Amino acid sequence: MNCSEVQKKIGFWMDKELPEDETTDLEYHLANCKKCSLEAGGLKCVSGLLYSYFAEPAPPPPRLKDKMMADFRKTHSKPTLLKRLNSNQFSWPMIPISIGGALVGLFLGALACEITILASGFLTQDSYIDALCSTGMAFGI
Ligand SMILES: [Zn+2]
Repeated sequence: MNCSEVQKKIGFWMDKELPEDETTDLEYHLANCKKCSLEAGGLKCVSGLLYSYFAEPAPPPPRLKDKMMADFRKTHSKPTLLKRLNSNQFSWPMIPISIGGALVGLFLGALACEITILASGFLTQDSYIDALCSTGMAFGI
């Protein structure tokens, strides 16, 4: 095999796609020809660099992956309703206080409305009692 044939087949040799007899001839030539030997060495170096650049990265160790997934879930998990209720953002005593405040506001609003109606003189005492009873029925009292 001469230098020209080696240059044509060296890529196949590097990919181990040459038949055995041609592989033997090519390797014999490389062992005796400094020019082709240097070229083959350069190609092997470039090929190794390309392989390492495009090769898939090694998977992470299983423990590291499990730890990372656990940390991710811990950091990004949506808190349950119970956790949110127990957090500092919300406290249980706020429920009755909120309901009580709403009822007091409703009562004061209704009282102010009644005072305004009575003060305006649109209603007599009898019609006021009727209105009050119908209002009470509307609220289920
Ligand atoms: Zn040669």
